[in-house]
Amino acid sequence: MNPRFSLCDAHRHLAPEEGGEGDAGGASGGGGGNGGSGTAGEVVNAVSEADWDAVAALAADAPERVIPAFGIHPWRAGGTAAGWERRLREILARFPSAAVGEIGLDRSRRTTGAGGAGGGGDAAAAVFARQREVLRVQLALAREMNRVAVLHCVAAAGALESALRETPPARPFLLHGFNGSVEQARVFAKLGARFSFSADFFAGTRRNPAKRRALVASIAPDRLLVETDAAGAFAAAEARHAALFAGYTAAASARGEPLEAFAARVAENFRALFRHA
Ligand SMILES: [Zn+2]
Repeated sequence: MNPRFSLCDAHRHLAPEEGGEGDAGGASGGGGGNGGSGTAGEVVNAVSEADWDAVAALAADAPERVIPAFGIHPWRAGGTAAGWERRLREILARFPSAAVGEIGLDRSRRTTGAGGAGGGGDAAAAVFARQREVLRVQLALAREMNRVAVLHCVAAAGALESALRETPPARPFLLHGFNGSVEQARVFAKLGARFSFSADFFAGTRRNPAKRRALVASIAPDRLLVETDAAGAFAAAEARHAALFAGYTAAASARGEPLEAFAARVAENFRALFRHA
């Protein structure tokens, strides 16, 4: 894997040997190695407070490559420790180029129990209410500190739109792996969204890959990024890089664009979003 252009990973998590808790963003699995060989830039996202120090250490080791994102993932919104808001503010202050992530809303069965996206049940409602509260705090912090927010949204587009209208982001934000409709993507774009997709997003085992390709093709050229969402499965830097290259290939193909021109623009989009400081 040695393309003539540099690749940027707009969204990944800690690998196990980097101290990550593992599976909140992607599949889990083995792997070794470290660093980001061949990857020019990567945004490494925490999923809970337990990740923050390890993400900070990676960013301190390789500031030219790693952009840290500190936050509480919606899957972890129920497990916060008292004082997390203050500690999040402190670690963001230590890293002026850090993003606030991964944050967001997830109404899938996995997080809200058997009720799933259709709602139902006081327990599911309480879980989702907690997600909204944790998101609200983090969007306010991102706005106040002028940071990029890195957003996860599954089966909760309406609620996420409300949250963004209530606390309008101070700057463009990343909506990663979004699998809603073209119309919903347009609404988020008007609110400042940039979008990133992984190779897995296009995989044939997923529901309706044609719809997903059409969604990616509908995104404005200056708003598109590529990600791995890697956690455990692509722990080795080489495997991660290969997955990232596959994402570039799939996204360029979905848009019918030549790979090199596409990659050059994605690099520019990455720089504009994450290296603004
Ligand atoms: Zn993620």
